[in-house]
Amino acid sequence: MGIKIGVLALQGAFREHSIMLDKLGASSTEVRKPEHLEGIDALVIPGGESTTIGKLMAEYGLLEPIREMGQKGLPILGTCAGMVLLADKIKGSDQPRIGLLEMEVVRNGFGRQVDSFEEELKIKALGEAPFRAVFIRAPYVERVGSSVEVLAAYGDRIVMVKKGKILACAFHPELTDDPRVHKYFLEIIETP
Ligand code: GLN
Repeated sequence: MGIKIGVLALQGAFREHSIMLDKLGASSTEVRKPEHLEGIDALVIPGGESTTIGKLMAEYGLLEPIREMGQKGLPILGTCAGMVLLADKIKGSDQPRIGLLEMEVVRNGFGRQVDSFEEELKIKALGEAPFRAVFIRAPYVERVGSSVEVLAAYGDRIVMVKKGKILACAFHPELTDDPRVHKYFLEIIETP
């Protein structure tokens, strides 16, 4: 039996994640209510607007169950707003969050004047070839606690992290043709 990956589908770029997972042969299912979490092997939290997604998660009763499942080892991939929602500290904000990663994020951390940009990143975990990362009003991580591993940085700004089976990146791997972040996540899911 194959694995089933839930994609949080409240707001933002969730379809692109499903399409990418589909291309890799992994089946996905949209998560909008707590009952949609039943039987999933992993969860993707997409980019979008973290304040909106967080508010809707709180409203629909998704924050607690996802937090609990993450604590129990559910693999989670958070991209952009998803990364913000996984942080336990969000600079200058008390917005609802899942908060599973011990780190402080800065929302829109690259400045509003640079709304979006692309950058070739060296990400050792993905192999030698640079990864073309798409940043859209992206956050960055200012500092991480000792439990969080840094996988990539852009200058001195941390843009990809991992803790156990939880992976987060400030950019949008679902908006490129390069499937390596999703492949890496699938490897994490399949590692016992
Ligand atoms: N700036 C958004 C936020 O903080 C994230 C943007 C994105 O996901 N592309 O929620």
